Amino acid sequence: MMNVIETRKLTKSYGRQEALRGVDLTVKQGEVYGFIGPNGAGKSTTIRIFLGMLRKSGGEAKLLGGDPWQDAVTLHQRLVYVPGDVTLWPNLTGGEVIDFLVGLHGKINPSRRKELLDRFQLDPKKKCRSYSKGNRQKVALVSAFAADAELLILDEPSSGLDPLMEQVFQECISEVKKQGKTVFLSSHILAEVEALCDRVGIIRQGKIVESGTLEELRHLTRTTVTVELAKPTNLNQLQGVHDVSRKEEKWRFSVDANAMDAVMNALAPMGIKSLMAEPPTLEELFMLHYGDKFEGKELN
Ligand code: ADP
Repeated sequence: MMNVIETRKLTKSYGRQEALRGVDLTVKQGEVYGFIGPNGAGKSTTIRIFLGMLRKSGGEAKLLGGDPWQDAVTLHQRLVYVPGDVTLWPNLTGGEVIDFLVGLHGKINPSRRKELLDRFQLDPKKKCRSYSKGNRQKVALVSAFAADAELLILDEPSSGLDPLMEQVFQECISEVKKQGKTVFLSSHILAEVEALCDRVGIIRQGKIVESGTLEELRHLTRTTVTVELAKPTNLNQLQGVHDVSRKEEKWRFSVDANAMDAVMNALAPMGIKSLMAEPPTLEELFMLHYGDKFEGKELN
């Protein structure tokens, strides 16, 4: 399968400030790739390099087989971009903007346009100056989904959308994925990333610190186990078991991914009456890198 986005040792400095310090990432065709990290990690810088708005300082970046800086004009016919804070022409109506933006990519499909306007509940007759932030996002999203682009680069695209529209957004992403299109999604809404993304890259201080499928990332951390036991003995002393607590008959603790098998074997003779295992959420994975909670824990 073709790599739609590929970077190797990508660097960018703003004067003395090193914003990217060797970013390696690969996004395959048909994939929804989640790009997450705290403020200042380098997400926008990476995206602006992809869009040909910034020139890299070093390393390599390829988009759809081309160079995002040299080939910006041709690449922009094949990709769409939605920023987190959409600015529109105040005197044009939403519909005029949609027609203009989609027109840059080819002929507009009127039934697709109407369908998206209905789904996003957007009135295209209003002037852009009267739109709320959420409605401006909708104009950009309708344009992006109506254009038949191979690659969608979305930077916090659903900021300002209410939960119902967030749902519509997620459905649209699933549909474009089914059509074999590729989505690069930077988002701070971890539930959105969890629901949509095939693979995730976590960026911190200009470097990708983790990447993989959610399942792969989950293996880096701990599963929470809640268990009811007939004869609990020395749970605290089991290898790989942490944070043991008890509420009435139920014991709760976290288990290192590589200790799961041994812990289950140790629990069996204690007479398991009920057991529930919860994988870590993306939020917990994120905290592992950025929060105080897990600070100092070695990752293998
Ligand atoms: P993110 O999008 O993840 O919040 P950015 O890519 O905007 O991160 O920023 C990465 C780093 O580069 C930050 O330390 C930021 O302060 C710095 N930076 C971003 N843009 C500029 C700029 N135009 N001039 C100087 N430093 C910048």
